[in-house]
Amino acid sequence: MLLLFGFKTVHKALPGRTATCPHCGAFIHHLLEEQATKFTLFFLPVLTVSRKFRITCTNCGYASTISGARKRALEGRL
Ligand SMILES: [Zn+2]
Repeated sequence: MLLLFGFKTVHKALPGRTATCPHCGAFIHHLLEEQATKFTLFFLPVLTVSRKFRITCTNCGYASTISGARKRALEGRL
């Protein structure tokens, strides 16, 4: 029996937030992106293995990875 499996990273843009950038110090809009690594079976995503959130400053382009809890805090849903 042949099993085709692998991993696939899916990027999804989320609504951004206004926050203070730790790099340039500007209180400006930040872009938020979800990066989900999915386990695939026969090229179909079966389950999410890991999920990361990437926040990018629109002023200087500084990008950092944040946890799901920090992302929820940014959305005001803690
Ligand atoms: Zn910045």
